[in-house]
Amino acid sequence: MIRPICRMGNPILRIVAAEVKSNEIKTESFSRLLLDMHDSMKHYGGIGIAAPQIGESLQVCLIELEDFNRYGQEVNLPLTVFINPKIEVLNPEAAGYWEGCLSVPGLRGFVERPQHIRVSYLDAKGEKQHLEAKGFLATVIQHELDHLFGTLYVDRIKDLSLLTYQEEFDQFIKEKSSIE
Ligand code: ZN
Repeated sequence: MIRPICRMGNPILRIVAAEVKSNEIKTESFSRLLLDMHDSMKHYGGIGIAAPQIGESLQVCLIELEDFNRYGQEVNLPLTVFINPKIEVLNPEAAGYWEGCLSVPGLRGFVERPQHIRVSYLDAKGEKQHLEAKGFLATVIQHELDHLFGTLYVDRIKDLSLLTYQEEFDQFIKEKSSIE
């Protein structure tokens, strides 16, 4: 079921979400939450979504990047569910991308983040998993995980002159820097 997206200003986006209990993962209501997250992400055209964005303050997010090309990087991550994820920075060297967010519609902002990370999490079956990620995928994962801890990408913009509306981004920035 497609659910409405909570937008910036909704306090649910600003609190630390609760960890998912292991006996909760196999329940019908949790499976339904995952389906709703996926339906909503697809409907609104996102590449990732976190539970707080559809009004559930739980530490779960999904990312799906199939044959995705951004900044000249091929990124492929089949639908992946991250439950109670923990992030470890393997190399703090950062790079910046123009990020957008379903909870901050119509805007783009330039955010620098570490480009080599490892994330430990439980999958939809409740099994422990690890994923090492570099480049744009590392950025996407950090963006989604931030949602579980009350942080939005706009908080991480160092230079606020690099926060723009989508249309102005398309008109003045995208072409110049040949993004996408
Ligand atoms: Zn977001």
